[in-house]
Amino acid sequence: MRDEGPGPILHALRCALGVRYFETEHLTPIKVRPLGTAPEADLTSSCNLNMTKYGVEISDHRPAVFFDRDGTLIEQVPYLIRPDQVRLLPGAADAVLTLRQAGYACVIATNQSAIGRGLMTEDDLQAVHREMCGQFAEQNVVFDAIYHCPTAPTVPDRSMIKDWNRKPGPGMLLKAAKELGLDLSRSWMIGDVLSDMLAGNNAGCHGAILVETGHGLRDDEFDVAQSFVKVENVVAAAQWILGEMRKYPMTKE
Ligand SMILES: [Mg+2]
Repeated sequence: MRDEGPGPILHALRCALGVRYFETEHLTPIKVRPLGTAPEADLTSSCNLNMTKYGVEISDHRPAVFFDRDGTLIEQVPYLIRPDQVRLLPGAADAVLTLRQAGYACVIATNQSAIGRGLMTEDDLQAVHREMCGQFAEQNVVFDAIYHCPTAPTVPDRSMIKDWNRKPGPGMLLKAAKELGLDLSRSWMIGDVLSDMLAGNNAGCHGAILVETGHGLRDDEFDVAQSFVKVENVVAAAQWILGEMRKYPMTKE
């Protein structure tokens, strides 16, 4: 699947536009247009791409929202390895519930280097996820799937792909798309660090949203990041996605 999907097209567009990121309050409307199109092109923001005009097929597959776990859905804890460390962030359950009700598959994609570092086992991770899912279930929220990558990083650069499945690699998102029948071109990635934003872009997602409830971006990472939206938390991220869906419905022509 490496060469499939709209990723390269969106990347080319975004690079051509010089789009890096938008603060939320500045985002609507931002006048941008891709190179090679008429000035009157109906492209008013990076989130208003009419895919069919760029040869991207809009499929009947479901769109998804991919969530980072730590610092996005649950409190950021350095090397969370025990179930008693799991605490949902305020509003996270409602945000997921709202997106599912709107038709989005909700999938967690989480780097779990603690396994690769020998700090926890796969069984430990499953215990953590049982606790997390139990807390979400108490608020009537279930996820379509949870993917994790156990590999420990070998380089400090969060933009470098050393393992296809470890974010910023798109592997987990592409695997989810294949297994769950997802339309990545209408999907979003929500996370708190650079590698989340890049994973969404690398997988060809429609957009990536940075939340401020986790690590955030280092100053030297803004130039590396591609286009993304920055919001306060996952609740605002869900509202953003639903707002974009209402404003710019992407349907077959
Ligand atoms: Mg995180």
